[in-house]
Amino acid sequence: MKIIDSHVHIYEKIAGITQGQPIASKTLGQVMIGNKEVQFLPPSFERTCSTAEVLIAYMNWCGIDKGILMPNPLYGYQNYYFMESIKKYPDRLKGVALVDVMKGKKAAEELADIYDKGILFGLKIEVDSTFQCAPDTRLIDKKLDSVWDCCNQYHQPVFVHMFRTEDIDDLEKLSEFYPNITYVICHMGADACFKAEMPDTNYERVLNLLKKKNIYADTSTVPVYFEEEYPWLSSVKIIEKAYQTVGAEKLMWASDYPGMLNHGTMKELINLVLNGCKKIPGSQKEKIMYENARRLFFAD
Ligand SMILES: [Zn+2]
Repeated sequence: MKIIDSHVHIYEKIAGITQGQPIASKTLGQVMIGNKEVQFLPPSFERTCSTAEVLIAYMNWCGIDKGILMPNPLYGYQNYYFMESIKKYPDRLKGVALVDVMKGKKAAEELADIYDKGILFGLKIEVDSTFQCAPDTRLIDKKLDSVWDCCNQYHQPVFVHMFRTEDIDDLEKLSEFYPNITYVICHMGADACFKAEMPDTNYERVLNLLKKKNIYADTSTVPVYFEEEYPWLSSVKIIEKAYQTVGAEKLMWASDYPGMLNHGTMKELINLVLNGCKKIPGSQKEKIMYENARRLFFAD
């Protein structure tokens, strides 16, 4: 079966902000968060970087045809490295843009410039790290209007990693207000659904959002929230429930490489859906593993 990985990360080094502290690459998969040493990747990532070459080698090894490079302010701004990597592997990689949306109109201008160049596409919002320096910011805050206007005007998708219940409310409003934007909910709703302190009903609400025409979800990273070992049975249930509620059309397989290699092998990440989700028939799995992402992001 052909596979597209809808959410992978590459970076030459980590240099961002998290938990109000600087985060920076050390060695052997470790980072420094402020003064604290954290094992961020497996030790085999000797320089604590994630290069395009190693990603492509993993993709070749595991039969992944194409990958979508996903930024996160946590790593720092990687637009340049994404563009260089896409030029090197134009048939294998596409990359999502990152701008500092807190700059409002200026961010929208930067984005328009990026879209005019035609290499990167879309926009990533990782609520926690995007709003790190202004944590009360809402997705529907006025200051972001020009950014949404730009994405809507250029028909660009927005990938959102949600952390709070209000992010679910806001995404619903945005999806109605900006019909030209395709929204991808990262990690099936992520922290906003699966963090222990979140109401159980939040996942139901995300499934309702997925019924909207312009909202999709990627299947990655769910095992992290349940602290479970492969075959990740709670995650299987979450993904199968989404399939039963909204159908295979709305789901896209993703690995969240390389961070998820802390939890399983690339093959296991593939098999979470391919072998694990027994309630999804094979023909429908093709849509999740490949066809939906191809149609949405690789059709040109
Ligand atoms: Zn990610």
